[in-house]
Amino acid sequence: MRVLALDNFITGSPNNLKGLQGNPDFEFRQADVNHGIFIGDEVRYVLHFASPASPPQYDSNPIHTLKVGTLGTMNMLGLARAKNATFLLASTSEVYGDPLVHPQPETYWGNVNPIGPRGCYDEAKRCAEAFAMAYHRTHDVDTRIIRIFNTHGPRMQVSDGRAVPNFMAQAIRGEPLTVYGDGSQTRSLCYVSDLVRGVLAVLERGDDQPINLGNPHEVTVRELAETIIRLAGSKSTIDHRDLPVDDPKQRRPDISRAEKLVDWRPEVGLDDGLGRTLEYFRSVL
Ligand code: UDP
Repeated sequence: MRVLALDNFITGSPNNLKGLQGNPDFEFRQADVNHGIFIGDEVRYVLHFASPASPPQYDSNPIHTLKVGTLGTMNMLGLARAKNATFLLASTSEVYGDPLVHPQPETYWGNVNPIGPRGCYDEAKRCAEAFAMAYHRTHDVDTRIIRIFNTHGPRMQVSDGRAVPNFMAQAIRGEPLTVYGDGSQTRSLCYVSDLVRGVLAVLERGDDQPINLGNPHEVTVRELAETIIRLAGSKSTIDHRDLPVDDPKQRRPDISRAEKLVDWRPEVGLDDGLGRTLEYFRSVL
């Protein structure tokens, strides 16, 4: 199968494509899906992952983030419809907002502040889900919606701004780790290879209903910082900073639907995954 990748590099980097250079089954075009795209060939799958995904990045590109979730999604659904392709939307645990139900099953409708700093991302992804369902119901497009929980792995940007890249860069440099708030808020971290397996499983064997993909192993942000300091063998200390507005207090996926429907569950443990990501950050810092 041949792959055509599109990116406008608003948050990504051409460096991440180096390993694919010269691969005859891979083609790249620098493009913005918000402007639509013409493809002459047949298309079997459209995987729509385009969007800034880190809170500081979508906070500094709110209009672009809203556009790519809405107009970009509509354009990619239009492409899938025209090509009779299967469409997969990379949605997010952020559709649950600051969740009042824990852990989060797909049936939970969420607790999102539409006008807060995270609203541009959360509401764009919620609109993207509504678009996918509308194209499915109206035009019978074969659609998938995955809700991706916190994920990490090699090739994240050092300047990404999320907890894992920040903590790793800080631990490697011997700087204090910036824990926002008291660090009692929780996240559940999935290693990227597990996520990729899940994406492919849902693409091949999923249905049109949303499906959570993430690792249910939940830790506090403070525990995460301490684990990274330990794995890095670092002498860094922890420095508390203000908690960002609307920062979700807890997050853990209920993955029973993924287990039942596509027989998927994560296999890489927290220390193992963080160790692999740390190796990458060491290689670039
Ligand atoms: N966080 C932190 N220090 C950082 C970056 C993030 O304490 O340098 C916290 C953030 O406030 C949140 C958690 O880590 O509670 C995860 O943040 P991230 O940006 O990775 O993703 P989110 O789950 O908030 O989308």
